[in-house]
Amino acid sequence: MVSGRSSRFMRPRSDRYQPKVYHPVVRIMWQGPAMSDMGENEGAETIPVFNARTGKIEHRKPIRLTDAEWRAKLTPVQYEVMRRKGTEYAFTGRYHATKDAGFYRCAACGTDLFSSAAKFDSGTGWPSFSAPVSPHNIRTRPDRSGGMERTEVLCARCGAHLGHLFDDGPAPTKKRYCMNSVALDLETTGELDPGERKA
Ligand SMILES: [Zn+2]
Repeated sequence: MVSGRSSRFMRPRSDRYQPKVYHPVVRIMWQGPAMSDMGENEGAETIPVFNARTGKIEHRKPIRLTDAEWRAKLTPVQYEVMRRKGTEYAFTGRYHATKDAGFYRCAACGTDLFSSAAKFDSGTGWPSFSAPVSPHNIRTRPDRSGGMERTEVLCARCGAHLGHLFDDGPAPTKKRYCMNSVALDLETTGELDPGERKA
């Protein structure tokens, strides 16, 4: 009487999240030329961007910098990950174990990307989220680099590479946005003070 019931033996006994797909453990992997990666936003005068603090959609100019300008603006590791699509080592980033409440913004342009409410412990060593703050704020596209079929996640406003999206996340979305810590900038809720924020 095994058939039909055997699958329960394949499942973890608890509801603990069990990731099935892992990033390759690559410190910094050069995967292609630096490019704008603006996709359908290429050429757009403004794009809709969700502001997680106000809960409103704003129309902002896309950030388009030259390769030299990005290199000057970002740290060397940020540049390797965000403009050249590298991947930081697992468990080395500053946010994989962070539980602070707040919003994770794009480290390159400040666009709100993820809420701590959507963060979960994937056990992969990379900060993982079940959903972005808004589909407006990210772009995804197929990524066949490294001999793998993956979905790349990019910042919609500046085209920065952020990480990859997998379909083995927790219910209900089943999505796992697997991000590089170095591409994120956490603004903890306790620090949110509109009066002190510069426009
Ligand atoms: Zn950005």
